[in-house]
Amino acid sequence: MLLMGGVAALVVLVLVALKVSLDPKGSETVDADKSKVIHVSGVYSVLRKSPRKDLAALRPAEEEIKKYLAEISEDVNGVPIKASDRTALLKHWKAQMEMNLRGIEAGDKGGVAFYYYDYLKECPVCGKFIAKGNFVTREEIYNHPQLIPPFHLGCACVLAAHHGSEKTMRETAIAGMSPFFEGDAPPPLPEWGAVLSLSAAAGVKK
Ligand SMILES: [Zn+2]
Repeated sequence: MLLMGGVAALVVLVLVALKVSLDPKGSETVDADKSKVIHVSGVYSVLRKSPRKDLAALRPAEEEIKKYLAEISEDVNGVPIKASDRTALLKHWKAQMEMNLRGIEAGDKGGVAFYYYDYLKECPVCGKFIAKGNFVTREEIYNHPQLIPPFHLGCACVLAAHHGSEKTMRETAIAGMSPFFEGDAPPPLPEWGAVLSLSAAAGVKK
């Protein structure tokens, strides 16, 4: 009985060895699928964590902004800043932050991998740093939450979701879209203290 069992086990071993040697591609595919599953369940769930807390840690606190604005008498274009402008600038800063964060949180539910910069109106402060259509990946946002607008007080720059693949993103690149990153480190961004008046329509200097 013992001998029979041994022979049976040997036959099974030989068959398994034959299967592996005859079908090396099959076993590779299994390994590739396995790593893909780990990638999706592990890395991606971390990547798609809301950047809300990480961004808040990088941005100035409300009190700091209030103090700063109290001492500002004109914006980057020399437009006078009144008390009502200060209130509006702080409100706008918070609202824009919320809007951009919600956009990313909504994008994560739909698996958005690319975001591009757009402007609600011309932003002379950001214009020197970011071109309309510059795009970032969700992974870059995860690694560098400071990529989320607004970048400064009165900023009109927004992050828009690209609902497509890397392929469609690259195809759109012909129409002026290009990666924001040139290497691994994030390119320079505007200082938050650059104030752009909201009441100055189209930057008219008074
Ligand atoms: Zn801006």
